[in-house]
Amino acid sequence: MATHADVLARYRAFLVDVDGVLTRGNEALPGAAAGLAALRQRGRTLVLTNNSTRSRDELARHLRDLGFGVGPDDVVGSAFLAARYLTMHCGPSAVWVLGEEGIRGEMAAAGHRVAEDPREAAWVVVGMDRHLTYEKLSHALEALVRGARVLATNEDATFPTAAGLVPGAGALVGALRGMGYPPDVVVGKPSPVGFEVALDVCGVQPEGALMIGDRLETDVAGANAAGIDSALVLTGVCTDEDARKSETRPRWLAASLAELSAGCAVALPGPLQ
Ligand SMILES: [Mg+2]
Repeated sequence: MATHADVLARYRAFLVDVDGVLTRGNEALPGAAAGLAALRQRGRTLVLTNNSTRSRDELARHLRDLGFGVGPDDVVGSAFLAARYLTMHCGPSAVWVLGEEGIRGEMAAAGHRVAEDPREAAWVVVGMDRHLTYEKLSHALEALVRGARVLATNEDATFPTAAGLVPGAGALVGALRGMGYPPDVVVGKPSPVGFEVALDVCGVQPEGALMIGDRLETDVAGANAAGIDSALVLTGVCTDEDARKSETRPRWLAASLAELSAGCAVALPGPLQ
């Protein structure tokens, strides 16, 4: 790929997706740890992931175990975003969780109350739940018929694992929608909520940040809508051809995070309007 010496020089912060950029399944992608370290030499780096199953602490520990030099303050997951959204817009809230421990942990850490009775909840916070049961859906419905609103961590349809695709948070959001309760708020990518929080955490304006991701419909579309430049890396779900024929255009195209961090990227024309 062509090298543009100034690819990274214009940015002060780098928002970095996890699956397909840093990792594939439970393994680090080749050169990704060194690539992330190289970005850190140039500016603030913040890992921005739609994963809702882990808290910031757990996400950081997982990434450290894979060789990435990150701490909890360098990571924003969609469970954290959901907790932050409630704090900013509603104050301390009673929530019913349809999801995994990451959501419970972030809600408690932010001072929200995880209700033990669905009838007490003002919000149903929904994310990926690999232990979904009919009973859990029934409990969520109990909260919803009493007026609770739906806060979705994200709507990713599927989630890549070493064994192939598995249902993502979107499958659970779809179940609630099927009962007549579509989400009132979605905080994960491509929602602007996640990008606003990420810019706030980094202390930069949109034009000073670069989103690095592997999905056009979340990483790139969300960044474009938020006025943030994006780079698509080809180590995840989208291909070079996907990027060139899609109306959702990244600013940059790179073979991998390792290549991008070395300044090797192709400039694409701006997003088609
Ligand atoms: Mg990804």
